[in-house]
Amino acid sequence: MSIQVLPPEVVDQIAAGEVVERPAHLVKELVENSIDAGATRVHVEFFDGGRHVKVIDNGKGMAPEDLPKALERFATSKISQTDDLWKLKTFGFRGEALASIAAVSKLTLTSRRKDDEQAFQLISHYGKKSEIDKVGGSLGTTILIENLFENTPARLKFLKSDAAENSAIKNTLKAMALSHFDVEIRIQENGKLVHFWPATQSRKDRVEQILEIKPLFVGEAARENVRAYAVFADPHNVAKTAKNIWLFAQNRWIQDRSLQAAVNEAYRHLLMHGEYPIAVVWVETDTDAVDVNIHPTKSAVKFQTPSLAFRAVAGALRSTLELAPWLPAAQQPR
Ligand code: ADP
Ligand code: MG
Repeated sequence: MSIQVLPPEVVDQIAAGEVVERPAHLVKELVENSIDAGATRVHVEFFDGGRHVKVIDNGKGMAPEDLPKALERFATSKISQTDDLWKLKTFGFRGEALASIAAVSKLTLTSRRKDDEQAFQLISHYGKKSEIDKVGGSLGTTILIENLFENTPARLKFLKSDAAENSAIKNTLKAMALSHFDVEIRIQENGKLVHFWPATQSRKDRVEQILEIKPLFVGEAARENVRAYAVFADPHNVAKTAKNIWLFAQNRWIQDRSLQAAVNEAYRHLLMHGEYPIAVVWVETDTDAVDVNIHPTKSAVKFQTPSLAFRAVAGALRSTLELAPWLPAAQQPR
């Protein structure tokens, strides 16, 4: 076969495989968009293992002429030049999520800004867009995704059971809620309310609300330009897996073996074999000292100096663990 440039629908479907490999990724992208739009309330409904998803926010909304643009690839309101990647204040920057999702679903986008008299709506059937309609609707944006992956049956087959997909969605939303204590999050699964997390006053309150654990301890530390803040349970309150080590870099939920090791390291003398701490850790540095653009689902970042991040995280936990009443002085971690 000679070389051909792929038609745009095919390009979009391929991209969709990376960005929204499974419904939980799609939910993460949509909620990140809501938070980027300044929403203080985000409601998520999902059905059938996430093949139908609705996200309702009270964010700033979109202009009617922007609705079709939002569904274009590489169309974003968040950056305009590569330099902006090093000054990011938003979760989004690639302008890829909605285009990818639209390529593999029926998507209904409804949005109303503060000064609009009514909402505007655009429907896209697997990338084919309707005209824009005026509809009733409250302030903010609602995105409804239906029949995800119906046009890509091969991908549909890769989905796990509804129960497994549902729990991946809920886990992702837990992470989003942990990182945004000031946002109200409501979650409905198959029409039933499963979580309602009103905004809280602090990260610590949020961790208590979401992980349902008490008492919690707080520690912080800085190593040069890297700061870490940790909220964690006492070393008697442990888990059997590392699932309850939640790591955030620049408030993004990340999977990071090195930082996970830093958490375990801080607890080294305090836990038995096979026990894992319950800890939520935020690492923050200058926006130009971390690359957030190294992974298709943005679930990993690259610190300019990873050892500083490691030491800040271990230090944040130790600063409190070492003072704690649960250990005789002789056994305290060094
Ligand atoms: P990105 O977030 O990387 O910019 P997306 O495809 O996720 O790309 O979204 C495209 C654009 O659509 C965003 O830049 C933003 O302007 C707009 N948008 C998406 N979701 C929302 C929302 N919930 N509220 C307001 N604007 C939104
Ligand atoms: Mg986005």
